[in-house]
Amino acid sequence: MDSGIYKCGLCEYIYRPQKGDPENGIAPGTPFEELPDDWVCPRCGAPKTYFYSADDE
Ligand SMILES: [Zn+2]
Repeated sequence: MDSGIYKCGLCEYIYRPQKGDPENGIAPGTPFEELPDDWVCPRCGAPKTYFYSADDE
């Protein structure tokens, strides 16, 4: 199952598509793949390339 959840490889922040990242202009329901290329981890500032697909916990 693809949960659509991605985890930051640096700080383990979890991106959940259902929640999005409203504080940074990402609407709830936005898949990780559709985040802008300049989106970075809201917690540590890591670029998207540091994220990896993860299962819910
Ligand atoms: Zn991070």
